[in-house]
Amino acid sequence: MNAVGTEIRGALLPQGESDTAVNVQIEGGAIAAVDASTGQETSPASGSGSVVSGTNKLLLPGFVNAHTHSSEMWQRGLIPMLPLELWLADLYDTSPMEPEMIYLSALGTAVETLLSGGTTVVDHLAMIPGKELESVEAAVRAYRDVGIRAFVGPLIQDSNLPDSVPSGGIPRETQPYPMSTDATLDFMKTVIDKFHAPEDGIFIMMAPTGAQLCSDALLEGCVALSDRHSLCRHTHLLETKVQQMHAYEKYGHSAVEHLHQLGFLGDRTSLAHCVWLTEADTQILATTGSTAVHNPLSNLRLGSGIAPILKYRQAGINVAFGCDGAASNDSQDVLEVLKIGSILHNTTTFEYRDWISPRAAVQMAAQGGATGLGLGDRLGKVAPGYSADLVLYDLTSLSLLPRTDPVGLLVLGRPTQVVDAVWVAGKPVVVDGNVTTVDVEGLTQALLERQQKFPSLTTRAEMEPHYRHIMTLAD
Ligand SMILES: [Zn+2]
Repeated sequence: MNAVGTEIRGALLPQGESDTAVNVQIEGGAIAAVDASTGQETSPASGSGSVVSGTNKLLLPGFVNAHTHSSEMWQRGLIPMLPLELWLADLYDTSPMEPEMIYLSALGTAVETLLSGGTTVVDHLAMIPGKELESVEAAVRAYRDVGIRAFVGPLIQDSNLPDSVPSGGIPRETQPYPMSTDATLDFMKTVIDKFHAPEDGIFIMMAPTGAQLCSDALLEGCVALSDRHSLCRHTHLLETKVQQMHAYEKYGHSAVEHLHQLGFLGDRTSLAHCVWLTEADTQILATTGSTAVHNPLSNLRLGSGIAPILKYRQAGINVAFGCDGAASNDSQDVLEVLKIGSILHNTTTFEYRDWISPRAAVQMAAQGGATGLGLGDRLGKVAPGYSADLVLYDLTSLSLLPRTDPVGLLVLGRPTQVVDAVWVAGKPVVVDGNVTTVDVEGLTQALLERQQKFPSLTTRAEMEPHYRHIMTLAD
């Protein structure tokens, strides 16, 4: 992924509460130097390589889109206003069924992430039943083609969706999951062998769907494999009230305590949502160094609740931002997530000194994201020795004018087509506002031609009466 000898000259870099014009040297995929710009430089310091003008541009480390499901792109805008468990029923019934569709939606997810300031994507990847390996291959191929840094965590589970809600004391017949626990773990071994290639920017992660859909044997298998291969761990955690109730019914204690007992938590573990944690759960995340991934748009769309992110930050928990899948958002705009995911919390406390500032949001999205992936010492900062995963924003864009506080306006405004250039590990991926590594026109045409035909939906109707019962909603 490396390119050598690029200099970004005279870009505005946030430092503390102010911004400074800097020259940034990129060598061999990493940042070699960051120097104050005098505005007088005439030739590249290295004597070779390319010079990119940073005049009227803001330079930030690339963000991590720390939780998404790429194939949901095919269902965005589709599913009605429903809570997660019923929304999932529709999602399962309308999933894409061809590996080529997985390729296209991964490409689309990557392009939208790049054009909203992201350089890394965490794809909690839904796979086509019976075509699991082809699904992973398609997503990995897309990320290699576009050149984004990608963490791909195949969504694995060994229970069926109806078993993810509490029984409420009503006996029910549990159907075996189509793929056994052992077969699932064997499949993951194959995925790791075939696709885990950190030197190319492709990282496989162990990513069980969530405790509500996984046996202890599967979760323990995930811990063992991730330890053996130094992989990150990722899962959904207590996204909804239903999941909180389910954990107490299944385990007799919280899902956080349970994951902790199984050794799942740690400083390479990131946990999507974290809406329904207790004080004790919060302390466990803090002491284990686990990362909470905040997905505010999805939490609002599905009525899941507001994750108490300010409390997590005060407890010393690392926090990152995710778009979540595009069927619960319904886009992949990382900047939009930063805006909503910071100002949302202003409604939760009058202590305005605890609110998330635009500069803090940027730091959470870059450094917080990298830390959650075990890369905090080499990704997420514009500093020598860090990977050159960089984004230049065009400060002459009408949506970023007049020039006030560029970071403030980038996060709090509605920036439109402001990403001018992106590098991933020093390689240019976006130039002059366009993704240059893949044929975006071709992607657009392919999405246009493949508009999904949706089958009749059955799962939601089966689940809805029981859901309403356990949530004590009137018939
Ligand atoms: Zn998710």
